[in-house]
Amino acid sequence: MKLALRVGNLKPSPTLAISAKAKAMKAEGRDVVDFGAGEPDFDTPDNIKDAAINAIKGGFTKYTAVGGIPELKDAIIDKFKNDNTLEYTREEIIISCGGKHVLYNLCQALFQQGDEVIVPAPYWVSYPAMITLAGAEPVILNTGEETGFRIDTERLKESLTPKTRAIVLNSPSNPTGTVYSREELMAIYDTIKDTDILVISDEIYEKLLYEEEFVSFANLGEDAKKRTIIVNGLSKSYAMTGWRLGYAAGDSDIIRAMTSIQSQSTSNPTSISQKAGVEALRGRQDDVLKMVQEFDKRRRYIIERLNTIKGVSCIAPMGAFYVFPNISKLFGLSYKGTKVLSSTEFSSLLLKGALVTVVPGAAFGAEGYIRISYAKSLKEIEKGLDRMEGLVSNMD
Ligand code: PMP
Ligand code: GLU
Repeated sequence: MKLALRVGNLKPSPTLAISAKAKAMKAEGRDVVDFGAGEPDFDTPDNIKDAAINAIKGGFTKYTAVGGIPELKDAIIDKFKNDNTLEYTREEIIISCGGKHVLYNLCQALFQQGDEVIVPAPYWVSYPAMITLAGAEPVILNTGEETGFRIDTERLKESLTPKTRAIVLNSPSNPTGTVYSREELMAIYDTIKDTDILVISDEIYEKLLYEEEFVSFANLGEDAKKRTIIVNGLSKSYAMTGWRLGYAAGDSDIIRAMTSIQSQSTSNPTSISQKAGVEALRGRQDDVLKMVQEFDKRRRYIIERLNTIKGVSCIAPMGAFYVFPNISKLFGLSYKGTKVLSSTEFSSLLLKGALVTVVPGAAFGAEGYIRISYAKSLKEIEKGLDRMEGLVSNMD
């Protein structure tokens, strides 16, 4: 079949593919420990579900305003005011079908052939794909463990060209859990302040934070705010991955363009989810806090355990629900005659030899690492790590 050139090199999301594989194996009755999943294992809180049920019963089941209902926009505006001390108007907000959809609309609205967009690696898998789909070029800026996977501003400076349109920041980060402090963000701002480069600030893990205070790039001052488009959503903070609700805040011209794209593609995000979203943002927040406390317990356990496995080391992430251990010391070793030379090979070996799924670092542009999601019960985490430890101890 002749397909459009733009899909020539397009691959399905590896994170979604690995989760789907784990789910399929479980459905066949195999006892897989799935560390691949990028979604909270908690259920959506009942007050949010009830709001959706009431929306259905009350007949709120029709098309809504394309960019989201005013009631939800206002709840988002209040969230920004209360949580982030940031002021936005309705014209500066769009609600879409997940943070992913927001990012897709944004790339379509901003980028075209000839543009370059800086993507720090390790990166979330969909950034380079979405930039490429818009015809632009993702410029990968490698960061290393020595900086806690943070951008080195000298290297950032070297990556900038007259074609650079934007930089993608993701704090707390998927896959590393890295969180940027105000000073670190300021150093990035100082590097780009004399240009017209925009900042896409993906803040979807904002609430999943264990040590630092959350600071948005938009908090750095009027000029920084003007050039920032914040991307956020309800998937992670409220365990609502299936509801598909994300939002952006930023310059009204950009938001208008994104809304036009949405009006010609998906139309509004689901009416029912939007009502649930209002309850999520305005209702009680204790379930979020409980979830964060539980994630923190798991985070501490998993870091300690990983660092006792021979050949594996892991720095402590400060946010999100992922750890990104270094497994490069295992390269060159074999397990039952299978030699491991890459994160992809190690991940397949873990699945075959120990029924544990992880995502290879290569998917995030960082060879030598794997991503483990701790959005799993402590019991599952213990079981998965026991299996991984057993397998690794038999590698030589
Ligand atoms: N950004 C990051 C960094 C993510 O990990 C995800 C998770 N899928 C998203 C955006 C989008 O999530 P969603 O579409 O469920 O809102
Ligand atoms: N963001 C999650 C992850 O990285 C969900 C999967 C996806 O949307 O690609 O696993």
